Amino acid sequence: MRSLKKALRWDEERFGREYDLDVFMIVAVSHFNMGAMENKGLNVFNDKYVLARPDTATDADFEGIEGVIAHEYFHNWTGNRITCRDWFQLSLKEGFTVYRDQEFSADMGSRGVKRINDVRLLRAHQFPEDGGPMAHPVRPESYIEINNFYTATVYQKGAEVVRMQANLLGPERFRQATDLYFERHDGQAVTTDDFVRCMENASGRDLGQFRRWYDQAGTPELTVAGDYDATSGAYTLTIRQHTPPTPGQTVKAPFHIPLAIGLLGPDGRDLPLRLAGEPSATAPGTRVLELCEVEERFCCIDLTARPVPSLLRGFPAPVKLRFAYSDDDLLFLMAHDSDGFNRWDAAQTLLQRLLLALVADPEAGIPEHFFEAFRRALLNPSSDRALLAEVLTLPSESYLGDQMEVVDVDGIHRARMALGRLVGERLREDLLGVYRDNREMGPYAFTPAASGHRALKNLALGYLMRVGDAQALQDCQSQFAAAHSMTDVMAALRLLVDHGGAEGAQALDEFYRRWFREPLVLDKWFSVQATSSRPETLERVRHLMGHTDFSLRNPNRVRSLVGAFCTANQVRFHALDGGGYRFLADRVLELDPLNPQIASRLLKAMIRWRRFDPGRQALMRAEIERILGSEELSKDAFEVASKALESN
Ligand code: ASP
Ligand code: ZN
Repeated sequence: MRSLKKALRWDEERFGREYDLDVFMIVAVSHFNMGAMENKGLNVFNDKYVLARPDTATDADFEGIEGVIAHEYFHNWTGNRITCRDWFQLSLKEGFTVYRDQEFSADMGSRGVKRINDVRLLRAHQFPEDGGPMAHPVRPESYIEINNFYTATVYQKGAEVVRMQANLLGPERFRQATDLYFERHDGQAVTTDDFVRCMENASGRDLGQFRRWYDQAGTPELTVAGDYDATSGAYTLTIRQHTPPTPGQTVKAPFHIPLAIGLLGPDGRDLPLRLAGEPSATAPGTRVLELCEVEERFCCIDLTARPVPSLLRGFPAPVKLRFAYSDDDLLFLMAHDSDGFNRWDAAQTLLQRLLLALVADPEAGIPEHFFEAFRRALLNPSSDRALLAEVLTLPSESYLGDQMEVVDVDGIHRARMALGRLVGERLREDLLGVYRDNREMGPYAFTPAASGHRALKNLALGYLMRVGDAQALQDCQSQFAAAHSMTDVMAALRLLVDHGGAEGAQALDEFYRRWFREPLVLDKWFSVQATSSRPETLERVRHLMGHTDFSLRNPNRVRSLVGAFCTANQVRFHALDGGGYRFLADRVLELDPLNPQIASRLLKAMIRWRRFDPGRQALMRAEIERILGSEELSKDAFEVASKALESN
């Protein structure tokens, strides 16, 4: 109710949209395929996105609820009063409504952290989709089963495409443009083109080239080079764009890409960014440059030393960036960039670099300056804890895999474990201090400050547990037992389960006894076991399939066990013996007649089989063929399986 009231007020203020009925109803159901559905006046919710108490729900659950309640409510205008002319326009309502819920959550909590999480999600799900056999434009050109197109591309990339237009127009013009859209199209069924036309009409801008974002699939890659000429004091950025081919679209025309750029001087402060030919200097800070050609040069003048460029501040476009930063540049940006998003991104780039070096050579050393930077960040008294926790989190195994030519499943896992352990060992005292200082005192509160404390504390505990010392284990067990908030309980339980042994088993038993009557909490009990990196995990998951509380007929339960194992446990799902693949294919075949939507979603876990080594490729391919060979396969599963095998 609190989320709903906030959403009602926010939409009135930010978009001038009022609710139009006297009554607004929400119903929670326990068996639901999606997060929720925006039926007019009666929103239907997966109970995961509506039911929460401090002792049953984590910070992430509360955030999810606030965001999804808002999302469905916002659909009343962007989806219901103005709806889609046909299914190809799905992103008209979903992309725009996701943009609206992202902005709402940013205003309710921490804008910087929200942006980081949204971009992390985009990179983790949408970029791989855009680079795989089911890549499709934000406005798809064809489909066999539209349920297969409730995708990260239609939702998350669609939101980025709206965000780019908002940034190109600026807040005032964008508001005029959305006012125009609501006025012009109220009561109609329209297209994404109608939306863009409102942006054009309200601003006088020509978005002809920009429209390619709706039609061309694939993630553009920007290659940037910086050249400083000391005699003239000019720094030239040469920016090239290239979008790899996607199925059915071999040649890509250049995109219209907004770039938000800053230049840092040797003291770490923003410099004025003046382009050659411009009459006067500008104030220091970020400037939005627009790239429209395949290659363009931007010549920045009036500089007295080589600047460090801060490129793509706030992530202004859904693109991949290549720039030859030195480690020192990245450390410098991580410490000084005025843009919080880019401080995080610099840290992540550096961590990724260290981890990939460890994958290539397990003996590769970690440079001393890395530990110093990590310690300085950790002990900086002025830092925002939630942001800091994001900065110091290691990139996920699957994200690291996406950065490799061929995914090295075991090498990545080993490297990530090793770096975690090293951080724990080298910074043990500091981490212990952070853990103690951020331990919860009062009752649970869902506020950005309180959840920042919890995030940082649990991050510290995670590194300490990697070392495997007795003190950390004890802290972990007391945190589990104190049970102040589900966030803390789950963080401790996850670590205890990964630790294994009697401690892990005991914690799982206690958790079950305490919570077996609460289905949403029981989902957590299943998923924490399914995502454990312990070698016996698949065996455990198979065993849990027979548990009295497991049912293939409950989508949340299926996701918490089967989905979690296949999509959030790279090292165990992709085990060399193919056991994970066989397990998934069996489940897909079992589920397909019961719930084809969920079956085909699960199947997508194998769709990027070509990214792996020949042995794993052959194993996955055989399982996909086995699925395709089954009689009476649903349209849903057929579409995914057949596209997975198409040559690209
Ligand atoms: N339209 C829903 C949403 O995105 C999903 C669904 O169709 O159930 O909110
Ligand atoms: Zn939606």
